[in-house]
Amino acid sequence: MCSVIGVFNVPEAAKYAYFGLFSLQHRGQEAAGIASSDGKRIHIAKGRGLVTQVFDEKKLSKLMGNSAVGHTRYSTAGEDSVLDAQPIFARYDLGQIAVVHNGNLTNAKVVRKELIREGAIFQTFMDTENIIHLIARSQKEHLYDRIIEALHKIEGAYSMVLLSRKKMFAMRDPHGFRPLVMGRLGSGWVVASETCAFDLIGAEYVRDIRPGELVVFEEGEEPRSIQVFKPTPTKCIFEYIYFARPDSDIFGKNVYKLRKAMGRELAKEYPVEADMVIPVPDSGVAAAIGYSEESGIPFELGIIRNHYVGRTFIEPTQEIRDLKVKMKLNPIKEVIRGKRLIVIDDSIVRGTTSRKIVSILKEFGAKEVHMRISAPPTTGPCYYGVDTPTKEELISSRMSVEETKEYIGADTLAYLSISGLLRSVGNDLSYCMACFDGNYPLLPKDK
Ligand code: 5GP
Ligand code: SF4
Ligand code: MG
Repeated sequence: MCSVIGVFNVPEAAKYAYFGLFSLQHRGQEAAGIASSDGKRIHIAKGRGLVTQVFDEKKLSKLMGNSAVGHTRYSTAGEDSVLDAQPIFARYDLGQIAVVHNGNLTNAKVVRKELIREGAIFQTFMDTENIIHLIARSQKEHLYDRIIEALHKIEGAYSMVLLSRKKMFAMRDPHGFRPLVMGRLGSGWVVASETCAFDLIGAEYVRDIRPGELVVFEEGEEPRSIQVFKPTPTKCIFEYIYFARPDSDIFGKNVYKLRKAMGRELAKEYPVEADMVIPVPDSGVAAAIGYSEESGIPFELGIIRNHYVGRTFIEPTQEIRDLKVKMKLNPIKEVIRGKRLIVIDDSIVRGTTSRKIVSILKEFGAKEVHMRISAPPTTGPCYYGVDTPTKEELISSRMSVEETKEYIGADTLAYLSISGLLRSVGNDLSYCMACFDGNYPLLPKDK
């Protein structure tokens, strides 16, 4: 998972990109970068770490110009190194370009191999670099035609923004796996992964970039829309469950409202007698409110989160992950002692978090712990940009719900059903749910 932003025709565009990325930080904490254009050349700065760690006043002031693209990285494809931070920048026969990409290309290895056979020299391990090579090697005269040609050679998930010296291009794959929204900022334009970025910089949401659409931004003209591919939308439902920020509207709907609806459905499907509903913060909060409203059982904050610890997925080894759960979450003993708890989280992936939480809650005197998960069991990996572990590491691919309940030590455990999940998004069938139902809209060409 990653985030992208693009700012066009706005003075000091890089500063707006910076603040936009700041509010998209939840989508990736490993690296951040911005490229800007002053009309004559493209400037770029990127590095490892959080947006506030990568940039300071001095670095930002060097990113001159009225247009900019930015990225925060959460490694999926590629290695975790500075080389693999975005934007990717290149000089080629038509000038200079910078690209930012959220998603994962499913034919990246095949395309890369072919390009290398034809003599391309790759500088990163990122699938995104394919696009630059395809554009640079194209025989077409105009960048616009080259982009369209390149898009016909790639497959998979991409919400992407490309900056040239004079123009900006925003595009979304025909499945529209990842969100991409477009808004107005003064007399200029912004595109971003989520609308929370617009709120911070004072931009006004206009519409989503559509699946299969390319939008061209050019000075002195209205944005030009080209429907490059017929849309076949399978938008990532996990964005609603976990990834996006609750204060964002993506795919045309508010994330917080949908999370609450999932909690409500969960309460209808799996009620249980208890004294209180408590969330695993922050990811379980909205669903827990929904569960509490539906069941009439009071909502309490029973676990407090230390916000100065990164997300637990970021450390690769199991030992550190265990320790990090304790560093991150601590129960309020006063609240939970002697109580029957319904504990709500958005997902169980490896089972590490839930197992630790149940054990800490019991250790501090909870009488019963009923785990309720506001998504179906995660049974398969994601090929479209979410860094889910391999199938073997997914607890629900190895264990039944009953076995998982035993493993995490809860008194009861239940997951929202697939039909319950669908109900909470208004029975809209244009979503991908592959990591839950195994119905993959696109299979990787090179696994
Ligand atoms: P587990 O310990 O079961 O592997 O992880 C479950 C927790 O990880 C849940 O609280 C959930 O909010 C969070 N989570 C689920 N999917 C992801 C993901 O793709 N990335 C990150 N960083 N956390 C996730
Ligand atoms: Fe989203 Fe899961 Fe589909 Fe990946 S497989 S796009 S995480 S719903
Ligand atoms: Mg969580």
